[in-house]
Amino acid sequence: MTKEELDFFKTLLTAQLSELLGLANNTISSLLDVLDNSPDPLDRATMESERSSMLRIRDRESKLIFKIIRTLERIEDGTFGICEICEEEIHIERLKARPVTSHCIECKTKMEVEERAYR
Ligand SMILES: [Zn+2]
Repeated sequence: MTKEELDFFKTLLTAQLSELLGLANNTISSLLDVLDNSPDPLDRATMESERSSMLRIRDRESKLIFKIIRTLERIEDGTFGICEICEEEIHIERLKARPVTSHCIECKTKMEVEERAYR
């Protein structure tokens, strides 16, 4: 993925996040910086509850909000656009349709089939 494409997704996700939280884009950026730079050895769940209270996240939207935050982190650490299961690149059109996805279409389809099988 090119730097332009990464910037595109970063801008898109930051805008979406600021809209969900009702905060300005630059507030979001500095907030994410603070969160990323805290050398906290806390586990994910604790970190998310800390973030919730810090961001005053309402339950209804929290799932999407955390997905966006994680995706922004993935952009920062260079794993954005890589499938978490097969580690192949996720197709750019799929990312444009659904930027917070962390699975390629093949793995996602497999997961859905398995979910249905276990239901
Ligand atoms: Zn995959």
